[in-house]
Amino acid sequence: MDIIIVTDLDGTLLDANDFTFDVIHKDIIELIENGIEFIPVSSKTRMEMMSFCSELGVKTPFIYENGAGFSINAEASNKTDIIVGMAVDELVEIWNKVIPDELKASCEFLSNQSLDDCNAILGLSGEPLRLALERSYTALFTFNGNETALAALYHHAESAGLRLQKGGRVFCLSGMHNKASFIEFLRQQNDRQPKKLIIAFGDASNDIPMLNAADIACIIPSPTGSQLPPEVITTTKITASQPAPMGWIESAEAALALASDIGDVNYG
Ligand SMILES: [Mg+2]
Repeated sequence: MDIIIVTDLDGTLLDANDFTFDVIHKDIIELIENGIEFIPVSSKTRMEMMSFCSELGVKTPFIYENGAGFSINAEASNKTDIIVGMAVDELVEIWNKVIPDELKASCEFLSNQSLDDCNAILGLSGEPLRLALERSYTALFTFNGNETALAALYHHAESAGLRLQKGGRVFCLSGMHNKASFIEFLRQQNDRQPKKLIIAFGDASNDIPMLNAADIACIIPSPTGSQLPPEVITTTKITASQPAPMGWIESAEAALALASDIGDVNYG
């Protein structure tokens, strides 16, 4: 049995504050060299994911903008990507039509905010901030209403075929896709080959569908110690004892040991 790792980046593999991962860089390369398929899955844009791959030094496939697009061949242009997302203009047009004004007043899209404000919200500046704001299939916003207003916002959006997802720092408006969109595709693609075991890694609520679609879910706690409530994860789960990036490799090792117990794993 072969193994596919699908992993969120910010706060899961990358340090939640400074987005570094150098302490586990060598370990990740080792996993890839040992034949594990490694697919980063993030709300990041295509350009940000390419920048991550170049930092990693490996041209891996990746899934971007919360499951809107799948770059299967990182060597190729975006023309070979599989896209299930809706263009931003279209999303905003529907949003403007269906969301009541009093709810809109509690939402502020990053595209309408100053670079200084975006810097404070996303913790990015310069080129990384520019790449994060150049979105094709998702729009990021902050929300300052109460829980009741948030529930109403979810209801109006979903009734109109829009999806809202909460990431570590902001809300994300998109079409009806999520980080699990391509997990089924990955399984089906390998239908005629020996079964593949999927290990997913995440830290925030927008990772839950991906974690639950995997065979083994690795939950990474935040630096403050808060973590996804274990009861929302319905598959076999491992919770790291420390935040990213060390929590990532700790739970990867535990998941691989578990995978060896589950089946005839072709690894190493
Ligand atoms: Mg995250």
